[in-house]
Amino acid sequence: MEQTLILIKPDAIQKKLTGIILSRFEALGLEIAAAKAVRATEDLLRKHYANLQGTDFVDGVIKFMMGDYNGLPDHRIYAFVLRGEKAVSRVRAALGATNPEKAEPWTLRGQFGCIKDGIMQNAVHASGSAEDAEREIALWFRPEEVLP
Ligand code: GDP
Repeated sequence: MEQTLILIKPDAIQKKLTGIILSRFEALGLEIAAAKAVRATEDLLRKHYANLQGTDFVDGVIKFMMGDYNGLPDHRIYAFVLRGEKAVSRVRAALGATNPEKAEPWTLRGQFGCIKDGIMQNAVHASGSAEDAEREIALWFRPEEVLP
């Protein structure tokens, strides 16, 4: 069974969208194999976003993910491992495009994302491929935190 890493980002937490987001994934028939609230360190986020290294927006993305976000009482991310048939591609389809202004309006990012201060505040991260998912799950979870 395929698995994927989901991160509910600070903008979605601040807007109290966690339940709505999880209900979309639940409706896809996906199961939660791991869940936790995390105060992500800069080191963890730099590893997670290694693909963005060298871009002019990586520092802004990391600052945003560390909770430097208007109105958030503290710094947190909700992390999940979701498991199911074609989990990676089906979750990505539910998210929509990276740029929330280009995401279809019925997708999570199209519905709830925005661009503010040059940062794409797009509510949710989901792994882009099965290989990315395995790498990302190993970064965010210890093996014993994920149901076999
Ligand atoms: P994702 O897998 O769809 O989240 O996309 P990426 O891994 O390519 O990018 C990670 C995050 O960096 C995105 O979710 C955005 O928040 C941000 N990002 C990606 N591309 C851009 C860009 O061109 N400009 C800005 N400002 N942010 C970007």
